[in-house]
Amino acid sequence: MKAEIIAVGTELLLGDILNTNSQFLARELANLGIDCYFQSVVGDNEKRLLDCIKIAFSRADMVILSGGLGPTQDDITKEVVAKYFGKNLVMEKNSLDKIVDYFSQRGYMAESNKKQALVIDGSIVFENNNGLAVGFGYEEDGKIAIVLPGPPKELMPMFKESVRSFLEKKQEYTILSREIHLSGIGESSASEKISDLIEKYENPTIAPYAKDNEMLFRVTAKGRNKEDCSEKLEKAIDEIVERLGEYIYGFDEETLESAVIKKAIEKGLTISTAESCTGGMVAARLVNYPGASKAFINGVITYTNESKHMLLGVKNETLSVYGAVSPQTAEEMCFGAARFSGTNIGISTTGIAGPDGGSKEKPVGLVYVGVAINGIVKVQRLNLKGSRNKIREATTTAVLELLRKELFKMED
Ligand code: ATP
Repeated sequence: MKAEIIAVGTELLLGDILNTNSQFLARELANLGIDCYFQSVVGDNEKRLLDCIKIAFSRADMVILSGGLGPTQDDITKEVVAKYFGKNLVMEKNSLDKIVDYFSQRGYMAESNKKQALVIDGSIVFENNNGLAVGFGYEEDGKIAIVLPGPPKELMPMFKESVRSFLEKKQEYTILSREIHLSGIGESSASEKISDLIEKYENPTIAPYAKDNEMLFRVTAKGRNKEDCSEKLEKAIDEIVERLGEYIYGFDEETLESAVIKKAIEKGLTISTAESCTGGMVAARLVNYPGASKAFINGVITYTNESKHMLLGVKNETLSVYGAVSPQTAEEMCFGAARFSGTNIGISTTGIAGPDGGSKEKPVGLVYVGVAINGIVKVQRLNLKGSRNKIREATTTAVLELLRKELFKMED
């Protein structure tokens, strides 16, 4: 099945709002294995919307429209879709009752509010549990129109609660995807290492996606049922793991920080952080994981030389001879964190995030990250590029990745 998405709304054309509905719908269609080759945005204008619908149906079997289901005069989507099919709109009783009930509690209802309960005669109704405008799907001669409200807080739940299962029934096959998350390797190097697999596999397909300082492979199988898909996925995933295992920190919902915390808990190890240039970002990532307190004990932000000395015991001599941004300071910082917090693991970040403060010997983007586990330290030098925030984010991911690698290397 081929689908197209039409987002309706003059405010989208003027750039006043971001078209997140189309992004959401496109992703959902991809997950369902429904091809979507075109998306359009059109203003609240009857002729242009009708033209847009005609063009979309000349290329696709299904058109999903969002927006323009409100009570005002410029909300015309349902009327135009009905016109395209040469059909009438009728009041959908349950939605009308809901609207009448809603306004009777508030005193006054304009006649135009009833408009939000209109659907094309013969439609499948998609209940709106977060607003008043009802959605619907209408099918005729192999053409399906799906009409959804504009506000994302209404459209997204409506899609998940009703539209997704409606579309699944239209598909003669099942689609299943799994995500493989990697860090410590770039998108192109990782893709290169499995380029023959990417080429060889047609079902499942293997697609690389770059994320900030990380990457993932989405493996998607098409099959008769979920079991058939799982079998196909397993074979391809095994081959990817065999080649790239050392960089893989998890699957699907796993994050780098959850992988790190889980591993530390499994090994009975506790963690503390000592951060300079990241200013708490490492600790914030770690506490993203619910239940982090089973491993993460505390973190300090030691931004100045004095605080590095006072709170972590970094020697004044180290700071004056090698400077705050040095492997020696990074090492003493993570030892200090572990010692003062009584944890097995101390991790540290120190660097020049810019935009000022760089020199020829120590340019902006020079960062040292350290991980000490049970008294054994590993310090890594990073030469990062980009804005201050990019450098801080990349540093955060790098130190978590260093910790993950060291934890995964440890014997049980
Ligand atoms: P309402 O009953 O609230 O008027 P509606 O179905 O008529 O809903 P619109 O009037 O087109 O929808 O849009 C209402 C609001 O929903 C917009 O002001 C905007 O905030 C949001 N919205 C509409 N379309 C999109 C879109 N494509 N992406 C993200 N947000 C959108």
